[in-house]
Amino acid sequence: MAALIHRPDYARYDFGPEHPFTPARLSMLLDLMRELGHDLQPLAAPAATREEILSIHDEAYVEVIEALDRGEARPDAERFGLGTPDNPIFPGMDLAARWLVGGALHGARLLMEGTEQRVLQLGGGLHHAQRSHAAGFCLYNDLAVAIQAMVDHGWHVAYLDIDLHHGDGVQNLFYDSDRVLTVSLHESGHYLYPGTGHIQELGSGSARGFSLNVPMEPFSEAEDYLEAFDAVVPQALAWFSPQVLVVQAGADAHFADPLGDLALTTQTFQALYQRILTLAQRHAQGRLLVTLGGGYEAQVVARVWAILMLTMLELPLPEELPAPWMARWQHLLGPDLSPHLHDPVPAYPPLPGREVRSRHNRDTVSRLLDTMSRYWF
Ligand SMILES: [Zn+2]
Repeated sequence: MAALIHRPDYARYDFGPEHPFTPARLSMLLDLMRELGHDLQPLAAPAATREEILSIHDEAYVEVIEALDRGEARPDAERFGLGTPDNPIFPGMDLAARWLVGGALHGARLLMEGTEQRVLQLGGGLHHAQRSHAAGFCLYNDLAVAIQAMVDHGWHVAYLDIDLHHGDGVQNLFYDSDRVLTVSLHESGHYLYPGTGHIQELGSGSARGFSLNVPMEPFSEAEDYLEAFDAVVPQALAWFSPQVLVVQAGADAHFADPLGDLALTTQTFQALYQRILTLAQRHAQGRLLVTLGGGYEAQVVARVWAILMLTMLELPLPEELPAPWMARWQHLLGPDLSPHLHDPVPAYPPLPGREVRSRHNRDTVSRLLDTMSRYWF
């Protein structure tokens, strides 16, 4: 079983109707769970305080967000990554972001108190936010604030990022810490935002070997992805032996996502979630904190994250999507959604270049493992 964290205030984190990071994704998901007959009763966490935000972010940056939150004009906003097409300014943005951070932090506290072993924060996953810079739809780094609290508690924290995009914010914020292991699998930065996450990024100083990156070729499919995951992640966790595993579970590596070109299916995500539960049990004393993240195709995110929730709650997966739910969200789902929870098999026509791509992916993993053999002992 797992504890769920969510409150309606999460919907205030909203960059406007044209922006892909819309809270409707979460409303659809919660409505789907209700329609499937699950009375979830998630825990409502308090917003993170200013002091808690300052455990990660610079005060000058927080001050700018607070001023913009109040509707004040800040000509220097763009210097902090704010007021850009990715991170538009909206009233209430400071508090909206602090609700999300508060949820992740509350999850960390439940684990530290020993009240819970597994926590799913239904929101957040703002892995691009930097110490004094907003980036990629992310204002405050909820993951980093939660991780820092657990480091302060004396724990070694492993962070796993399965979002389509490189988890650059979390990596950078702990780049010189040997108390935090970050592992990110993503579409290669040679082709996709944020352009980082190469195998040479290994951490600095005494933390060299504590940042791991598995950049995948565009159009990489389930087989390549799971092979890379299995080659790297269990070994890394066994070596690091953390007290907790934190996971950013973005759904944008799905083949239908409009923002990138990885080609995972709902079945791949289910296989990943099962692996994550096993790995937390085996290598992280059973402790697991999962957040959501990217995921921009309405047809996909509700199904993928429903699979995440049901897997974490150890509930059976239904085969069919409920008709009333499909009707209610048709304006976002589109008219041609199949009524199944899982993608069809095969989910898409064969993608050209599979062999070359697989060779390239295997070569990346073997170069990474070669390098890591110097650090793993
Ligand atoms: Zn993403």
